[in-house]
Amino acid sequence: MLSVRDDFLAFTCDPTLVYLDSAATTLKPRCVVDEVSWCLTEGASAIYRGVHRRGVELTARFDDARATIARWFGVADDEVVITTGATGAINLVRNGWPDLNSVVTTIVEHHSNLLPWTNVQSCRTLPCDPCGRVSAEDLDKELLSAPADLVAVSHVSNVLGVIQPVSELAEVAHRHGALLLLDAAQSASHLPVEPNLCGADFIACSGHKMLGPSGVGALVATSEALARLKPISWGGGMVESVSPDDVRLQPAPRRFEAGTPPVESVLGWATALDYLESIGRENLTEHTRALTLAAIKRFSGVRGVRVHGPADVEEQLGIVSLSVDGWESHAAARVLSQRGNICVRSGFHCAEPLHQRLGLRPTLRLSFQAYNDHSDIEKACAVIEQLAQTQIG
Ligand code: PMP
Repeated sequence: MLSVRDDFLAFTCDPTLVYLDSAATTLKPRCVVDEVSWCLTEGASAIYRGVHRRGVELTARFDDARATIARWFGVADDEVVITTGATGAINLVRNGWPDLNSVVTTIVEHHSNLLPWTNVQSCRTLPCDPCGRVSAEDLDKELLSAPADLVAVSHVSNVLGVIQPVSELAEVAHRHGALLLLDAAQSASHLPVEPNLCGADFIACSGHKMLGPSGVGALVATSEALARLKPISWGGGMVESVSPDDVRLQPAPRRFEAGTPPVESVLGWATALDYLESIGRENLTEHTRALTLAAIKRFSGVRGVRVHGPADVEEQLGIVSLSVDGWESHAAARVLSQRGNICVRSGFHCAEPLHQRLGLRPTLRLSFQAYNDHSDIEKACAVIEQLAQTQIG
């Protein structure tokens, strides 16, 4: 087990806190807070504008931050477009691809990887099995029946934690001439997301789910995929020159980044990635997998509790959703908060079609990060056992 709780100031401020809602947003380590604070004080300046010392120094630091993000994803610096988050990245692909006519997505998706595609001329939705898994065979059949420009799929479901077979899906998509967009909002801190490893052409992610600040994320894309997109937002910083009858755009990625970027959030996110790097991606995965397994075992043994998702924990990472008989999810989450200072998510988790497909009412979701340990599961389980008993009588 990792032992990094002391790095997170939320626990210093709130020592009894049991934080099991990292799939919604993660806590931030002290180094991220320090970096953001430096940027807002000592380092404060505008970037990519002006030639004074402060601006030049902060611009260099911003470029270094972009390089850190690029390293994490195993791409070149100019293959990282800074966005507002995963949602912003997906919408950039949707609105920036002028002749995007057909998309295949899946029923498992978060609304952010579903709603942007609904007004594409042809939008088809792959089914999933009862555990939330989509299959390369189904994608193959779908693309044989009619080709598509893009396949848009999440790496890890934000409801069930199920890991989709991304490399296989990418292989099928490419064989049929489609590109693959990977919604890596839930996977980017844990699983290999380098395009040459997972096969994705576009990757959408959010800094705030990777121990970084909110308001920032990226569209990571191969240069070839990025070349398909046009800017969707126009303004300062994206142009080389403007005259009354000619506009010359900056090369990618800056042509997609009109306006002043969220400098402190980008620097904070890069610091978070350095921190994750120091932990080691594989160590984090192992830690999270152990907690996921422990939670599934523990909750499955409680009478009146149903754990949803894959039976095979190797295919599930970091997220466990469950229902407590007789308890509406928000009511249960409120009791967890009041009795144990335990934060879990309740509701549909912005994935209503998946709940409908699986015949589920709103669920309780526990999610894990580096700062969690087995005692968090025990504390949550103690309250959930009380709830289950209350109803069973
Ligand atoms: N996709 C998935 C799988 C998610 O879990 C989320 C956030 N819950 C998003 C997309 C959207 O992320 P953001 O709100 O940071 O843009």
